[in-house]
Amino acid sequence: MKTVVKFGGSSLASAEQFKKVAAIVHADEDRKFVIPSAPGKRFSADKKVTDMLYVCYAKAKAGEDFSQELKLIKERFQDIIDGLELDLSLAEEFSRIEQDFKDHKGTNYAASRGEYLNSLIMACYLDYEFVDAAEVIRFDDSGNFDAETTNQILSARLEPLERAVIPGFYGSRESGKVKTFSRGGSDITGSIVARAVKADVYENWTDVSGFLIADPRIIDSPEVIETITYRELRELAYMGASVLHEEAIFPVRREGIPINIRNTNAPEDNGTWIVESTCQKSRYIITGIAGKKGFCAVNIEKDMMNSEIGFGRKVLQAFEDHGISFEHMPSGIDTLTVFVHQDEFADKEQKVTAAIHRLAGPDSIEIEGDLALIAVVGRGMKSTQGTAGRIFSALATEHVNIKMIDQGSSELNIIIGVADEDFEAAIKAIYELFVA
Ligand code: ADP
Ligand code: ASP
Ligand code: MG
Repeated sequence: MKTVVKFGGSSLASAEQFKKVAAIVHADEDRKFVIPSAPGKRFSADKKVTDMLYVCYAKAKAGEDFSQELKLIKERFQDIIDGLELDLSLAEEFSRIEQDFKDHKGTNYAASRGEYLNSLIMACYLDYEFVDAAEVIRFDDSGNFDAETTNQILSARLEPLERAVIPGFYGSRESGKVKTFSRGGSDITGSIVARAVKADVYENWTDVSGFLIADPRIIDSPEVIETITYRELRELAYMGASVLHEEAIFPVRREGIPINIRNTNAPEDNGTWIVESTCQKSRYIITGIAGKKGFCAVNIEKDMMNSEIGFGRKVLQAFEDHGISFEHMPSGIDTLTVFVHQDEFADKEQKVTAAIHRLAGPDSIEIEGDLALIAVVGRGMKSTQGTAGRIFSALATEHVNIKMIDQGSSELNIIIGVADEDFEAAIKAIYELFVA
């Protein structure tokens, strides 16, 4: 059996956390491949090392003195080394990093050093081999992750190794230039490694006991989801349930490797299993709730729209021409609404409106901002009647005005649009209705 284990930033924020991690790794000899993140926050007002690196490099790039910022980063790592009583010096690494910062080696390179250094410490502490992600995770020249080349290089490199530590979050282009994934990307690295070594399980260790039915920052101690499918998780992750990076399911999904979300601070908890398919019923009709603020609805009206062939295409063309992707597009007989991200759309709204008029000739266009979208997700909804109706009445009782409700054709999710200011109240009402 082979297990790949990824540890998030808060699981590796201090020497104390490193000790918990080592105990977890040693508790099961199948835990052979370890993917560390950079040190995260030790307490809520603390800074993540990745954020410190971005700030430090921005100064270097601007030609300013960055010695103070770099010193604080050194101290974070030195504290861990001292706390673990390791015979390891990062002095040479830091002189190289300092020089590379002076040489403007790039923001991606700078950000990647948190995972790189933390993994050197982890490899030394566990006495595992260190394999640099820059050698084995490959991006193409346009900066897109190259899954197949990576899989070949990585599986060949790891094949002869019994155990190894591979830093999360980054890889390199063919030219050797370091490139990172988007924030939270160590989850993706763990999944890529699990695929390459054909792991039996990909364990993702974090600071919560699994995927929770709702965001713990909104709902007080929400229940843990025992089992969730990749598809359900994708819907929730996309809508902001940030436990696992939304792209992290793709590499393992193609191999059918289950992901187990676990809590470094409570390793005895079973956590959440993310699987391809299951006959296990979820405890409630819904599996989870997630949502995001900051959307804009563009309502387009035209009499007899429904009988006009190509109307929708012309409207979407206007968005496409301005490089704006749409999120949802519910429609009525004479109306069509396009939901877009407000931050992408705000600067271009007048141009897009003009383009819609020009291309599709609608009667009127109305824009409404500051909206939130909430996804209620569950494989159990398919076999249950009246779910949307129950959500309607629960929200009405809480005086939340529903701007939009859209049931996906898979019957796996219901998307609800509300005002940003009603976001938290709406999530609470839905949670109360199905779970509490
Ligand atoms: P890591 O640093 O281990 O990668 P993250 O901060 O990326 O951890 O993800 C874990 C955090 O995700 C939790 O601490 C929690 O605040 C947040 N979170 C948001 N939605 C959920 C959810 N539905 N279930 C669990 N955690 C959630
Ligand atoms: N350290 C990186 C970040 O803060 C990647 C990760 O933690 O997954 O985004
Ligand atoms: Mg994360």
